[in-house]
Amino acid sequence: LVSRETKKDDTIVDIKGIKVGGNNIVIIAGPCAIEDKEQYLETAVTLKRLGAHMLRGGAFKPRTSPYTFQGLAEEGLKIIAEAKELTEMPVVTEVLDTRDVELIARYCDVIQVGSRNMQNFVLLKEVGRSSLPVLLKRGLSATIEEWLMAAEYIMAEGNHNVILCERGIRTFETYTRNTLDISAIPAVKHLSHLPVIVDPSHAAGRWGMVGPLSRSAVAAGADGLLIEVHPEPELALCDGGQSLTPENFAKLMKEVRAVAAAV
Ligand code: PEP
Ligand code: MN
Repeated sequence: LVSRETKKDDTIVDIKGIKVGGNNIVIIAGPCAIEDKEQYLETAVTLKRLGAHMLRGGAFKPRTSPYTFQGLAEEGLKIIAEAKELTEMPVVTEVLDTRDVELIARYCDVIQVGSRNMQNFVLLKEVGRSSLPVLLKRGLSATIEEWLMAAEYIMAEGNHNVILCERGIRTFETYTRNTLDISAIPAVKHLSHLPVIVDPSHAAGRWGMVGPLSRSAVAAGADGLLIEVHPEPELALCDGGQSLTPENFAKLMKEVRAVAAAV
């Protein structure tokens, strides 16, 4: 189902009128985690003003250490749902547990399966039975073939609205958090009809590299970007080092538009 051979034309995933795939660049932005209601709503309004199309924010966080901030759970979902009402932008959040799929569907428009769960086949099947589009991140060390087979798990359950997201892979390089695999974009476009977006924030792990990686992703044919933005990155409870300030996000939007117009 995932293969270009079975479907020649590009799949366009329609999220409340926002079309992912085809010829447009969809920008999804927001903090790594939803931390505080007032702060999240204010950031959401700012992101809308700066041209973002969709909002992100984690309520369930897959943290490396069990002692760091784990997310606000349902309280966070209520906040993101309020931001969606306020801005009229669709929202995406990550699911960690099959038991939360229905809960998330009550509040959000897109369900994210994170890198760490790319081969959680039970979870893939569960989101495959959901009516919501799925944003499927590439696993930390997954090959393109493994990533596409993970999408196949979702589609085999009947949910064909899958958006792939390249977010960097583990390599021997340690300067960046991960290594952004730009070649994954044309490779996926060749092998599959599904849209592919890029998350330069988790790839770089450094906010200063988010701009250059975004520009290269768009130039290479990505259908959109997933960008972490925080009003006060140095105070962020999660991933502050890779988060753009709203000012830097505004700059990025300008650069991305210029590249999109040129390709
Ligand atoms: C995230 O988007 O917040 C996240 C945890 O990303 P990844 O699964 O790519 O690490
Ligand atoms: Mn993050």
